[in-house]
Amino acid sequence: MQVKAALALARSRGVERLDAQLLLSHALAQSRSWLIAHDDHPLAPSLQQHFVHSVERRAAGEPLAYLIGEREFHGLRFVVSPAVLVPRPETELLVDWSLAVLRASEAAPIVDLGTGSGAIAVTLARRRPDLHVTATDIDLTALQVAQLNAKQLGASIECLHGSWWQPVAGRRFQLAVSNPPYIDENDPHLPNLRHEPRHALTPGGDGLAALRQIVCGAPAHLQPGGWLLLEHGHDQGAAVRALLDDAGFTCPQTRRDLAGLERCSGACWPGDT
Ligand code: GLN
Repeated sequence: MQVKAALALARSRGVERLDAQLLLSHALAQSRSWLIAHDDHPLAPSLQQHFVHSVERRAAGEPLAYLIGEREFHGLRFVVSPAVLVPRPETELLVDWSLAVLRASEAAPIVDLGTGSGAIAVTLARRRPDLHVTATDIDLTALQVAQLNAKQLGASIECLHGSWWQPVAGRRFQLAVSNPPYIDENDPHLPNLRHEPRHALTPGGDGLAALRQIVCGAPAHLQPGGWLLLEHGHDQGAAVRALLDDAGFTCPQTRRDLAGLERCSGACWPGDT
């Protein structure tokens, strides 16, 4: 079988053209442009078999990122495994917002709660090497992925094991950022995400439990003038602004993603009064 036939086969199994090209270029360790220029290249039987297997897994809904073991986020290539959520483009908004609020300060301590692949923490450490970046996660396997990404991308981050604020008890930060699990356990989209770790997607119930815990713990862990920035579901903006307000934050704000949906909310901590 040649490249052309393999790609056609993937399409006939319902796999999108781009995904098929990425799967095959990964299997061949070649670029996509090489693949397009060499569509008569013959595939060794073992490679063909491996490719067909990946196509079947992709057709059954497995994320492409798990099949090729990587995903681009904010222009950086992250290693991903089924132990971590696949970084989403919407989360880049949280990184951009973080970079904007940190503009004036230098060498600030910051923390990413529930770091997963380390997408947020590692990107911030790469973009602002002067920051002291701490990343926490309750899942040790996820922390290993975050550490690997930090190493491969030449970023320096401190990885701590534990739930939300617990590993950073007694410490205060200039910025706390988190993309916690926030999907309602009855959301009809949840079954489509079955290949990703459930605890990274939903905290159970109405989806707000992790956001509540993070907001409640934030006043004890932020420096005066420090920021808390959170990703949430498209219909949770008002609830998160209310949580921030109740906790004593100043002027909670919400930002919309490229689809125009409320995606991140955050606020500044005025200091203990
Ligand atoms: N912080 C990671 C990300 O944004 C993991 C988030 C999670 O597992 N809920 O991709």
